[in-house]
Amino acid sequence: MRALISQGLTEFGLSGRISHRAAEELDLYGLRLIEKNQVMNLTAITEPEQVARLHMLDCAALLRCADFEGKALIDVGTGAGFPGVVLKILVPSLRVTLLDSLNKRLDWLQELCQELQLTGVETVHGRAEELGREESFRERFDFATARAVAELRTLAELCLPYVKVGGLFLAMKSTDCGPEVRAAEKAIRLLGGSVEDTVDYTIPHTDVTHRVLVIRKVSPTPAKYPRRFAQIKKQPL
Ligand code: SAM
Repeated sequence: MRALISQGLTEFGLSGRISHRAAEELDLYGLRLIEKNQVMNLTAITEPEQVARLHMLDCAALLRCADFEGKALIDVGTGAGFPGVVLKILVPSLRVTLLDSLNKRLDWLQELCQELQLTGVETVHGRAEELGREESFRERFDFATARAVAELRTLAELCLPYVKVGGLFLAMKSTDCGPEVRAAEKAIRLLGGSVEDTVDYTIPHTDVTHRVLVIRKVSPTPAKYPRRFAQIKKQPL
């Protein structure tokens, strides 16, 4: 995995910004993920080369969208740490909050971060729509990220409340997300966001092209959002 990851980072044009240690750490992360996946459901991707490409390099592509140095990021629905842990390894000065509603995965992430000696990583157990109403989390982050968590209308309501005005919500999607984005335009606007850019990238040595929606927080999220999950589902914005 290590060689594939190093090559992929080079092909993304990122190698100059990243330490040699990062590829080693991503390699160890991948190994631990594959090991733990035998006893805990962490990922459907189990083959090392695929883990390197479809998890590590896919998440590394976010570095082409923004400068994360010294910033604070919340990864909503982090699961096995994607993209939050990958970004932390690649940008050690980034402060990362890993949020998920499944505590078992967070326990494993804590063990992993200890083994990798990553500091400035916090795991938070809870529902995104509940914590987003709490003062200590609301509009506290420069970035919110999410991959494979929910459809964009819902995701915007889960993620935008965490982002400071001026910050970014980076939604990792596939390239066929056009209709989903159009359906979410009103929700994004109501929540204080504005789609600023879309960044497409092909994961090195694959024919997989993904898209990052770069959504700027342009005004505060009205206090009534996020709503309860049942309402978000029943009456999407
Ligand atoms: N982001 C990871 C990735 O790309 O591999 C995990 C994706 S997994 C399919 C979705 C994760 O989102 C799960 O771990 C689930 O527990 C979490 N999740 C879904 N809805 C959530 C919510 N409302 N609040 C917190 N976590 C949530």
